[in-house]
Amino acid sequence: MMADKKTLSFLVVVGLSVAAGVALAVQAASQLGLKPGFNLFSKQQDITAGQQAAAQADKQLPLLNDPQVVGYVSNLGHRLVQFEPLPADYPWQFKVVNTKDINAFALPGGFIYVNRGTIEAAQNEAELAGVIAHETGHVVMRHGTHQASQMMLAQAPLSILGGMLGSSGSLLGQLTQMGIGFGANSVLLHNSRSAESQADTIGTYVLYHAGYDPHAMAQFFQIIAQKYPSRTAQFFSDHPNPGNRIQAVNAEIPKLGPPNNGRTDSPEFEAVKNRLLGMAGAPQSGQPVQQQQQPNGGQSSGTLTRADVMPSRNFKTFDHSAFRISYPENWEILGDANSAITIAPRAGVSQNAVAYGVIISGFQPDATQDTDTLYNDTRQLLDSLRQGNPNLKVIGRDENIRVNGKAGKSVEMTGQSPLQDSNGQVLREHDWLVAVERSDGELLYMVFIAPEKDFQSLRPTFENMVRSFQMK
Ligand code: ZN
Repeated sequence: MMADKKTLSFLVVVGLSVAAGVALAVQAASQLGLKPGFNLFSKQQDITAGQQAAAQADKQLPLLNDPQVVGYVSNLGHRLVQFEPLPADYPWQFKVVNTKDINAFALPGGFIYVNRGTIEAAQNEAELAGVIAHETGHVVMRHGTHQASQMMLAQAPLSILGGMLGSSGSLLGQLTQMGIGFGANSVLLHNSRSAESQADTIGTYVLYHAGYDPHAMAQFFQIIAQKYPSRTAQFFSDHPNPGNRIQAVNAEIPKLGPPNNGRTDSPEFEAVKNRLLGMAGAPQSGQPVQQQQQPNGGQSSGTLTRADVMPSRNFKTFDHSAFRISYPENWEILGDANSAITIAPRAGVSQNAVAYGVIISGFQPDATQDTDTLYNDTRQLLDSLRQGNPNLKVIGRDENIRVNGKAGKSVEMTGQSPLQDSNGQVLREHDWLVAVERSDGELLYMVFIAPEKDFQSLRPTFENMVRSFQMK
């Protein structure tokens, strides 16, 4: 079928203007000295990761569902993202969290949450616009997945799996293991000082081009830090002050163009603020976020009881694309059929560390000409594990074992648990490595983990898991 001529030319025009918009954005970014950092993720993966984290956030945060307030914030946000100095074709969403804390955060892919306390503390629309524009800066610079990418490089063994099991899903699986969520420990939310100053540059740029007083963002950050130190603790932990914020922003503003006599306020802002101030008081603080922290996120084992981590005698089976394994039915799988996975009791894993459970991953050794390749490959794997866990020590000797008929190595190690005892001393951890060679020379390995004091009581469970392990 022929395309209608009118429709076709319309499409061409739209296509050109989109291309022109992207070109202008790229030019603006280079003038501002903004270059997104190293990133293992594609833009589409930013969006997927953000959607997953946002789904968690929506479930766990007390969202405000007032149409007037949310509609206003959403309109404001959508207006601001038209002025980004970098490509901003994300499925933007702006939500309001019903808490008194002054906070805002952005998930990759354009999911932005603004606390009610932020709107109530802002003196005018420009200040609120400044906070939102700053958050959009983290999105278009892709700071969340940049941060995650750097962490993956540092945790070499996990990232190597990406090469082995391929598929784009494995990156997201790794992110799940590292804390894809939005909680206080989420890798997606912690910004470095240099990321902060980039978000400041973008926030100020967007304010200026959207017709607001470009000083409003930095001024607001300054005011809330002084006026509400306790209610802004989380904000400044995720958005550390890059230092001399006001001076840095003031130095940028003349480069943006002639003074714009930007507006500061709107009747809509005042109406929304008054509406909020007239509503029942917002609950204090982001408690729901804190609850999401796993017990050992606070590094104390005092909150972990034996019942929280002890395995059920009943097992169920997990089918991974590379293997099959049975595990206690009250433990959970983190990751998916194409990623590195952790199998652990829910209480035994925090967002960045496993205290009880097993990590199953893959390792691609450098080819050796040696006769005992399994021995050498296992040494390489141990070296790589130690890079990410410098306290890991091998105890005793490697043993040759067979796992469902395949040759493997068993290595006992000690290390440092992410848990502490009641005196704040780091607990000693026992780690048991089982590595099995695939026919293509790659290793699949399991590291069984528990504090030393509990390892022996878990060993029978771990041994049952090894017995059930079958490569595909
Ligand atoms: Zn920030």
